[in-house]
Amino acid sequence: MRSALIIKIMGMYDSVIVRCSKCGAEHEFQSKSGECFLGVYTLEDCPDDVMVNVNRHSPHKCDCGVSIEVDIPSRKAIIVSGAS
Ligand SMILES: [Zn+2]
Repeated sequence: MRSALIIKIMGMYDSVIVRCSKCGAEHEFQSKSGECFLGVYTLEDCPDDVMVNVNRHSPHKCDCGVSIEVDIPSRKAIIVSGAS
């Protein structure tokens, strides 16, 4: 899979769309652990190998004031700070 290796070096990634569990806003989480063919997934259809790395830039700050990350075993967005 030489071509896949080259693409990873060029800095591609897969995206997982995660909805804020407080306000519902969509956030794009980036993962480099999967195939990295610029796939766009949701928490429901994301492959396991992409999920492994989904929190690499987490937590994500939402405009509503909370910070969210993905709870990988349950595939749910969780609030890690800012919840009132
Ligand atoms: Zn929010």
